[in-house]
Amino acid sequence: MLVIDPDECIDCTLCEPECPAEAIKSEDDLSDTEQSLLELNAELSREWPMINEMKEPPEDADEWKDKPDKMRYLER
Ligand code: SF4
Repeated sequence: MLVIDPDECIDCTLCEPECPAEAIKSEDDLSDTEQSLLELNAELSREWPMINEMKEPPEDADEWKDKPDKMRYLER
């Protein structure tokens, strides 16, 4: 899981079609149940380290991609 710093994002939308998991959405396109993720994204973007170079996806990325209710596994 990655998060995007809302203070740094300029809403250019270039990342949305590039995400292989189709996990990036404009805040305008979030469902009612996804709205809570906005605050979580902002909070975690202040806590997690910045990624500033390309990396390979995690080996278990496909395993997690469609897992239902996966936020319950988030360790903070
Ligand atoms: S690429 Fe994505 S995260 Fe980066 S500024 Fe554009 S919309 Fe924001």
